[in-house]
Amino acid sequence: MKSLLTNLDGNIIGRHPSETRPEDYAAENIPLLKSAAAIRAKCLDCCAHSTKEVRLCPAKRCPLWAHRLGPLPRHLKATLRRQSTAKGADDAEPYASQ
Ligand code: SF4
Repeated sequence: MKSLLTNLDGNIIGRHPSETRPEDYAAENIPLLKSAAAIRAKCLDCCAHSTKEVRLCPAKRCPLWAHRLGPLPRHLKATLRRQSTAKGADDAEPYASQ
């Protein structure tokens, strides 16, 4: 079992997830969540664990905002796929032209 953190040049930094194993998370009692569940957990943490406040969140520029209630609705997923195909997934500019 390795720590999820490592020492690099005297600085404590997070390990790259690809270099971690499920046992490492279990040993530190840190839940290993799927992306949608992780986003939900972050939003609940942001809103003092109030589901109502997550629903009412007005921070529309937060990158998690469209995902805060669970998986993206089908029509938004389709738009995202079209954008990714047109631009290339790595070229996506999440904050462009807002
Ligand atoms: S979408 Fe709203 S509730 Fe979720 S992290 Fe962003 S600001 Fe917080």
